[in-house]
Order: sequence, then C-alpha cells, then structure tokens
Amino acid sequence: MNSQSALDLPRYIRMHVADNVAIVANDDGLPAGTLMPDGLTLVDKVPQGHKVALVDLAQGAPVLRYNTLIGHALKPIPAGSWVHERLLAMPGACSLDNLPLATAEAPDLPALAGYTFEGFRNADGSVGTRNLLAITTTVQCVAGVVAQAVKRIRDELLPRYPNVDGVVGLEHSYGCGVAIDAPDAIIPIRTLRNISRNPNFGGEVMVVSLGCEKLQPERLFPGSIAINAPDKGSLDVLCLQDAEHVGFMAMLDAIVARAVPHLERLNARRRETVPASELVVGVQCGGSDAFSGVTANPAVGFCTDLLVRAGATVMFSEVTEVRDGIAQLTRRATDPEVAQAMIDQMAWYDAYLQRGHADRSANTTPGNKAGGLSNIVEKAMGSIVKSGSAPISGVLAPGERASQKGLIYAATPASDFICGTLQLAAGMNLHVFTTGRGTPYGLAEAPVIKVATRTELARRWHDLMDINAGRIADGDASIEDLGWEMFHLMLEVASGRKKTWAEHWKLHNALVLFNPAPIT
Ligand code: CA
Repeated sequence: MNSQSALDLPRYIRMHVADNVAIVANDDGLPAGTLMPDGLTLVDKVPQGHKVALVDLAQGAPVLRYNTLIGHALKPIPAGSWVHERLLAMPGACSLDNLPLATAEAPDLPALAGYTFEGFRNADGSVGTRNLLAITTTVQCVAGVVAQAVKRIRDELLPRYPNVDGVVGLEHSYGCGVAIDAPDAIIPIRTLRNISRNPNFGGEVMVVSLGCEKLQPERLFPGSIAINAPDKGSLDVLCLQDAEHVGFMAMLDAIVARAVPHLERLNARRRETVPASELVVGVQCGGSDAFSGVTANPAVGFCTDLLVRAGATVMFSEVTEVRDGIAQLTRRATDPEVAQAMIDQMAWYDAYLQRGHADRSANTTPGNKAGGLSNIVEKAMGSIVKSGSAPISGVLAPGERASQKGLIYAATPASDFICGTLQLAAGMNLHVFTTGRGTPYGLAEAPVIKVATRTELARRWHDLMDINAGRIADGDASIEDLGWEMFHLMLEVASGRKKTWAEHWKLHNALVLFNPAPIT
C-alpha cells in the first residue's frame, strides 16, 4: 500500500466487522458512481472521513460504527449512500444506573523496565520536564502589570540564568466579581492552587496580588504561614496596593526584584536521569474528525498502555466525550469505588449541563461534523480509545492533583483550553494532543506533542504537527508502530532534547479556569 497508485484507489475503513457503515479514506473524498474494491458502488459523492452505508438501511434501522449504536436511520438509506448527520437520530444518553462495576478482567500488560528520561527532581518527589519560573496571580486585575514584568524578567534576567527555561505569568479571569463562597468555587480555586505547584515550576511559588480581591492569597494557599515574610518556607506574595509601590515603575521593579531569588534556586538545578514512571501525561483531543478514532487516538491508546506498563501516570479527561462510553469505563475500573467515582463525575456533569438547559449533544462542533462525525456518540467512541486498555485506577474531580501512578480519569470539560488547564492542575508534565481538523494549540506551562489524524493535515501543517498518525490510514505504519514512536518522542521531549513545534513557535494558549459557580 506504499505506492501513490495504491493511495489513489478508492478506500474506506470499517472499524468492526459488525459495522454497517465505513468511512472514506481518500484525501479528496470519492465521487458518486465510484466502484469500491468490494463491489459496492457509491450512490452519492462522499467527502473524506464521512460514512458510507455498506448495506441498505431501512427507516429506523440501527447504524453501527465501532460496533456501537451511533444512531437510527431517519429514512431509508440505500447501500452506497453518504450517511451524514441529517440522516441519523442520535440515541439517548445511557443510564448511569446498574452499570457494570470493575467487572473486566485485567488485560495482560507486562511491566516495561529500563526506560528513562532526564528531568528536574523536585523537593516533593515530583519531576519536571521543564524548569520554569511561574508567577501566580490571584486576580485578573494584575494581569497587565504581570505581563509587562514577565517581559522584563525574560529580557533582563533570564540571560543570567541559562538553566531556567522560561518565565510564565499564570494569568486567568478569576479572582474577583465571583461568588467565592458558592460550593462550586472550590473548583477554580483549587485549580489555580494546584497549577502553581505543577512539577514544571520547581516548587517555587511567587504570587502577585492586587490587595482588595475576593481571592486573597491566604484563601488560595490556606495554611501558608507568614505571608509576605521573606524567610524560607513562607509564601512569597507581592501586593500591588501596598503603600510601598509608588507608581507603575515601582511595581514592575518590585516584581522583577522579587523574581531573583526564585531564579537563582531554579538555575542551580540540573536534569538527572529518572525512570519513565515520573511522567505525568495528559491526553486530549481537539478539532476531531472521523479519523481521530481510527488513527491518532488508537495510537495514543497504545502509547497510554506503554506508559502505564512503564509505571507512569496517564490522565484522560473530557466528560462529554466519554459519557456515551461510561459502561466500558466502569467495567475497566480496578475496584467498585473507582467505578462509582467515575459515575459520580458523570452525574455531576449531567446536572451541570442540565442547569444550562443543555446536554452532551452540545459538544460536537461544525468542524467535527464537516470532518464526518455525526454526533457525540460517534465522537465519544473515537475519543475514548485514547485511554488504551489498562485498568482505570483513579478518578480526579476537576482541579484535583494526581497522587498515584497508572491510568487515571481526570474529569474535565472537553473544551481544549479548560481541559489542558485542569490537567496542568492535576500535575501534568507532558501533554499529548490529537487533532483532525487542525489546531495550533499549545501551552506555556508544559510541552504539547501534537498528533495529526490525517496525512493531508500533517503535510499542510508540516511545522505545527509533531507526529503524523495518518500513516496508519495510508497503510504505511501500524497503530503499534505509531504508539512506540510517540513513546520514544515523549522521552526525548521530556528530557528537553527535542522541542515540540508548539514550543518552537511559542504557541501559548491562555489558562482558562473552569468556574461552574456564579459570577456576581
Ligand atoms: Ca478537547
């Protein structure tokens, strides 16, 4: 299948022998009248990634992809027709009652020993893949000042501290004008607290506060004694409204000066060889298409299993994209308590969506549909495979920090920036992001490895995509090949020996805190 002529032949991909639809693989789709190698003739023009009916489907007939019901035919669909979202009625959400709890037999995943990377060991035992100074902000009001101070630190100080990889202002839109005592306010607050302690920041916490905001530093870091005291072990807080800051330049000078001791400590650190088990990898997808679940996500799933076998921590997330596969997930839990914790997160999110008069179907985007994904059920089946086959050994509520190894479900919205922000809070030191439509997504706080689902995208965005999983659909590589390639690339990137394209171009999306509580 390597020759160009083989790629030009009409091709479609069926995910399971029971499926009655398959997706067209050819770059430009296929015209009506195309004779497929199995003898089926296309009735319609079918775009790339879109579904073809393999048999005549009666009105009301179940439509199966991944051997899963993704919809019912709204009218008779002859074999060879384009099966788009307007022809399908989406199935209802599966019930959260009577789900199988930890019933799956543990798969055979022998331990992988001997894989290491070069990382920065922190005092709390975690390991950074980068050595960054992060400046925590308690409120959006200070963002403009901090941004200018960050620029000065970068230009004036960083050249003197060559072992420090960069300086990051942890800016966000939270901190004031919010119902800070509402029960759900715990989510944005603990998210910001835990991001400040991300392994890539070396245990240095430096805070810039305004002074009058609702999110007071003591509230953000409760139990931190002697706020503002310069001695070791105390929290370093600089408050812009303090009388000592006379004018804007004084504020900037104070922040720049305050950064110096942090930079000195960070600069004294060196990378050391650590086992691959110190990786904390967050996986997510964005701008998905019908190939996401065929190429990139299955390769990520294979790599997830490799990481778990190597003793690492892997988080998968995105509630609305796994909600339709909840029965698969609760089955894979290591014990009934983990399964129940997953169900609790789904139930919380169902209620959250319901408060806004929405449901999980609000997830799919125009781009997903243009890419061939008819609805959230089909999208979820392709998304969930990122979790591989390992048992699920833990569950995190939004904003919580992971404290265990293995495969963890970190409940987050599917929104790319919010999911990435929450995975940073969970302690992620390396991010893997798959995309079919294409997104230039990147984070300042952790390296992001981006995986294209299609060769056409990988070619067009040759300096944005780190791995081309489209080679799986082209017949040039297997899922296992790609999974291993990803695993090795992760170790290189984690060691700082390779930069991802997002790092190279400094593509930094904003942190977006998930705030389900009211704004005042
Ligand atoms: Ca996403």
